[in-house]
Amino acid sequence: MAATANQPGDKRRCVYCGKAIAVHLTQCPYCREMVPERRASRRSGSNGRQQIRRGLLYMLLAAVIYYFAAGYAAPLKPPVQVVPFVTSYLSPLLFLGGLGLTLYGLFLRVRS
Ligand SMILES: [Zn+2]
Repeated sequence: MAATANQPGDKRRCVYCGKAIAVHLTQCPYCREMVPERRASRRSGSNGRQQIRRGLLYMLLAAVIYYFAAGYAAPLKPPVQVVPFVTSYLSPLLFLGGLGLTLYGLFLRVRS
């Protein structure tokens, strides 16, 4: 989940000399090299994209389940008898969950 090396308030290693420096510093106090601030941008950028991708996957999965369970693929029938509960509640719930996750990912991307 989270990057284990870059906890907030933690120390990270300088790319040039390898000494432990505070995370918020942009210049290494030991070798005076400019250290790229990579923590904030990388975390928020990849996070939002990951949420959007997962949300879209859930929505697609819900659509496929609903399509087969509700009998729209008429000659093709699911190998097992699907309980109507799945069609009426579970797949819309999965779809809404995916939609929410996608919107949350978009919200994260807009904020960053
Ligand atoms: Zn250094």
